[in-house]
Amino acid sequence: MHYLSTRRQAPMLALGPALIAGLAPDGGLYVPERLPRLDLHDFADCDSLPEVAARLLHPFFLDDPLAADLQAICDEALNFPTPMQSLNHNSWLLELFHGPTAAFKDIGARFLAACLQRLRPDSDRPLTIVVATSGDTGAAVAAAFHRRPGFRVVILYPDGRVSPRQAHQLGCFGDNVRALRVAGTFDDCQALVKRALNDEALKRDVPLTSANSISLGRLLPQMSYYALAALQHWREHRRTLDVVIPTGNLGNALGCIFARRIGMPIGSVSLASNANPVLPLFFHGEDFVPRASIATLANAMDVGNPSNFERLRWLYADEDALRAAFRSESIDDAAIRTTLLQVLEQTGQVVCPHTATGMHLLQTLRSEGSREHTAVVATAHPAKFDSVIEPLIGREIPVPDTLGQLLQRPANAEPIPADYQMLEDRLRM
Ligand SMILES: *Cc1c(COP(=O)(O)O)cnc(C)c1O
Repeated sequence: MHYLSTRRQAPMLALGPALIAGLAPDGGLYVPERLPRLDLHDFADCDSLPEVAARLLHPFFLDDPLAADLQAICDEALNFPTPMQSLNHNSWLLELFHGPTAAFKDIGARFLAACLQRLRPDSDRPLTIVVATSGDTGAAVAAAFHRRPGFRVVILYPDGRVSPRQAHQLGCFGDNVRALRVAGTFDDCQALVKRALNDEALKRDVPLTSANSISLGRLLPQMSYYALAALQHWREHRRTLDVVIPTGNLGNALGCIFARRIGMPIGSVSLASNANPVLPLFFHGEDFVPRASIATLANAMDVGNPSNFERLRWLYADEDALRAAFRSESIDDAAIRTTLLQVLEQTGQVVCPHTATGMHLLQTLRSEGSREHTAVVATAHPAKFDSVIEPLIGREIPVPDTLGQLLQRPANAEPIPADYQMLEDRLRM
């Protein structure tokens, strides 16, 4: 399998080089030259996430030296459950937050780390992973690369715009991980990282790569939990599973959409956005026009320029075909709060603010008459957002063990202005 750029002006690459490159030289995103077709029989003896992932990803690793390690990579990276929690007779939560940092980003970050480790066996200079985060990516990447020989991580996050527990997580690793809190927005952080990644002089001295949500090494494994959920659902119910996905940069959603194209028994896919309206406006008929992001309770979805849109666009013949394929709605903070309380009352589940956008869209679909079997993706553990949720529900949320361990470590992040020279100095240190 080879990977081509969505802009088609860059040479095709094998998997390994595409994983390291991140962005293609023409500014596009790497996509597989074709999507394979698999069917249910191919998964007859696959019951666990690592087994399903290795089978599903086998065609994507063909012809690459990493193929020999695929099962080992899946066993190492995907070593926590992604269970379906029943809400009622036709609705489930697909819980993706049982990894080390309690958000779905752990899956992609751990898979990418396991791949990169094997791609640079005897390199003498460390590879620096520089990543801008609106909250959860940075911690997942830090956890995945923490104390891995041959790697350094530099995280940039918008000071004051992540939850207190997210901030603690970002600053608590130490060793080969450095957290910078930037006086600016997530878009400022992303612009600084982009500039560093395009700075050829810097990169000659300091080997750099990113681990942001356009990274192929994060996208590929994100197909696997959808495949597992849909396969298990099919085995039990002989029905396809509809999916509602809280969406920011479209990375998680693309995993689902790729899995469906490959032949997994997934029905409709609906995209829940927060008050950042770029995707909902597009799906409701307007042009795709990036704008500045606004801060919401679902902060990991505060995205004004959904970077994976190019990949989604590449999958469809034209914009109208793409618009027809998905339901997309914007859910504002007031609706997030109401939904959180309603879900708690009706199901006994406390969900995070991101998951609440998905639950709200599910309610809309139900009120319009859908009776389909539907899973809402639970993207983070609610305990990460205690400062939002606890005042609302009036009680404490129990903290999962892994998150609790991180919160007990001391945390330290260095403040910097949103200034490129400051970042370059830190990267050269
Ligand atoms: C990153 C994140 C999202 C958005 O995922 P995308 O892949 O950017 O669409 C949603 N919820 C949580 C908790 C996240 O961390």
